[in-house]
Amino acid sequence: MLSKPWGQRRERYDFVVIGSGYGGAITAARLANADVNPKPSVCILERGKEWAVGSFPDSAEGYAANLRGTGNPLDLYEFLNFDQISVLKGSGLGGTSLVNANVAIRPDKEVFELDGWPKALTLDELAPYYALADEALNVMAHPRAAALAKVQALERRAVQIGGHAQHVPLAVNFTTGPNPQGMHQKECTDCGDCLTGCNVGAKNTLYMNYLPLAQKAARRSSRR
Ligand code: SF4
Repeated sequence: MLSKPWGQRRERYDFVVIGSGYGGAITAARLANADVNPKPSVCILERGKEWAVGSFPDSAEGYAANLRGTGNPLDLYEFLNFDQISVLKGSGLGGTSLVNANVAIRPDKEVFELDGWPKALTLDELAPYYALADEALNVMAHPRAAALAKVQALERRAVQIGGHAQHVPLAVNFTTGPNPQGMHQKECTDCGDCLTGCNVGAKNTLYMNYLPLAQKAARRSSRR
């Protein structure tokens, strides 16, 4: 397990990061591994619980029983409804990475030209950082995408309207073994349960990369 019981916390930390989703986990990993001496101590506070591989709900009843707002503050799925959009969020160690579809597309250039977006942050400016994140999240195209019935159906429809379906980059593992952060991962089985939580250990959630990266640095600094 990556998390520590509340009783094992230190008296003081150099940094306290609130939340363990993409913002929190990446910030904590970079702070904990910063090129400074001594390394800063970092605490991540997460409102949800740790979901070990194999413990995610895999039925409609399991989903309903773990919907936040029904009583248990440690439930995994948070469904928010607004006027023009509905949002499914994850609540647990790894945040929404636990319950997203693993798609890691870079935004279109036009997104950075919208009114209100900071002019200094262009797609070109951010490209090296997208590349860093792609590497840590082990982003790649599905190697067997063309053999999947769903992809074949989408391709048939795309051809009918004069185009082709594109294979999107995914934060999914397609081999079995330890990853660069030392987490044992299995090959994706194409089960399609990504949105409720991967029970195979193939999905490259933050639990598999940035959070262990932060934890490894924390272990090194606590040994000093
Ligand atoms: S094993 Fe299933 S849940 Fe895990 S990444 Fe592959 S398709 Fe998604």
